[in-house]
Amino acid sequence: MKFYSTADKSNIVSLREAVLGGMPKDKGLYMPESIPRLPESFFESMATLDYQSLSFEVARQFLDNDIPAAILQDIINEAINFETPVLDIENRIKTLELFHGPTLAFKDVGARFMSRLMAYLIKDSDHKLTILVATSGDTGSAVANGFYRIPGIDVIVLYPDGKISLIQEKQIATLGENITALKVAGNFDDCQRLVKAALVDPDIKKSLMLTSANSINISRLIPQSFYYFNAFRQIDNFRSISIVVSVPSGNFGNLTAGLIAKRMGLPIQRFIASTNINHIVPDYLENGRFEPKPSIQTISNAMDVGNPSNFARILDLYATSWTDIRRAIWGTYFSDDETRQAISSVKKSCGYILDPHGAVGYLGLKKYLTQHRNVDIGVFLETAHPAKFKDIVEPVIQDTVEIPKRLADFLNRKLQSQNLSNRYEDFKEFLLSNSD
Ligand SMILES: *Cc1c(COP(=O)(O)O)cnc(C)c1O
Repeated sequence: MKFYSTADKSNIVSLREAVLGGMPKDKGLYMPESIPRLPESFFESMATLDYQSLSFEVARQFLDNDIPAAILQDIINEAINFETPVLDIENRIKTLELFHGPTLAFKDVGARFMSRLMAYLIKDSDHKLTILVATSGDTGSAVANGFYRIPGIDVIVLYPDGKISLIQEKQIATLGENITALKVAGNFDDCQRLVKAALVDPDIKKSLMLTSANSINISRLIPQSFYYFNAFRQIDNFRSISIVVSVPSGNFGNLTAGLIAKRMGLPIQRFIASTNINHIVPDYLENGRFEPKPSIQTISNAMDVGNPSNFARILDLYATSWTDIRRAIWGTYFSDDETRQAISSVKKSCGYILDPHGAVGYLGLKKYLTQHRNVDIGVFLETAHPAKFKDIVEPVIQDTVEIPKRLADFLNRKLQSQNLSNRYEDFKEFLLSNSD
């Protein structure tokens, strides 16, 4: 399949270029040329398929001509190596837990798939691929772990000194081998500026094959549609009842992947775009105006996004029709106080511990169900394990959050990051001295 840019539909590229290039030069985002509808027989048999076979059927619709079937299945088996269970929370409310991967957040799914796909796409190249990623926390840890020990690929993660949590730093900076962690004397914007400058620097292009690994890469989006199918597979009679899905959102990659699943025929009646007070998309759904703003810090910090990068894809999927987008997505947002309140009340009523992001998803769903009585089941996505946000969650529930073993293992490892100033010349020198 080929991919076009949302900014210019005549700008059509191969899978290889879309994945390794990341972002079109016209500043649009890549979209698959078509989104095939899966046959009825697929949905009939969905409940009997396992997660990996199901993911293969979905992926094949986009990647069939570019990747041999056996290799695609291998990529999926390696990438999708943890479950995404659906659990009952309350009457009519279920959660889809996406945090059972190595870094305990849903970004593991996209990062693990992207890494294996990239490794396949560069396998005949003479040069190593170097991936640069600027992170404010979660993306860097998922990417670092997703690419750890992937042959032919080096990853350099830039993170702001003192501005990410210890858990996140340990997940980024203790791996070593093909993962280099640079602790930048500056903020996240400095990290991003250094990465962007390097990606367009002709001196560096001469000696390094560089790309980025941010959330707009199409190879992260495609696998994120897999778990929507895997969720419905776990719900009895999913074809004959009405189901809505609430997605706690920041850059809207997760929700966009859900829209793709819906376009492929998965019977998702409607999406709920649940955000924190960075409510750019809920405002658009309300008044038709998309007005990016500087982001505001909240306790659901992976959703502190003032200019949601996947919005262009949502517009593209619905040919910019506000009416159609509103039919598919309902938006709402919540304050930190409301989020804390939800964490506390759900713990009290059913013993379940939400993380701050999942709590926003839960609140959005709850609000929707109160106003829409004709829905049978609502599912909210739980995007991170509460232990990743211990500092916020524990005082609210007045109890301890158990740390899963794979997180505890990270905490016991030694940090091995290198310091970097926020000057581009220093970063450039670092990159050139590391190329060979
Ligand atoms: C990245 C992230 C989100 C937001 O996902 P988008 O695809 O950017 O909307 C939500 N929750 C957690 C825990 C995240 O890491």
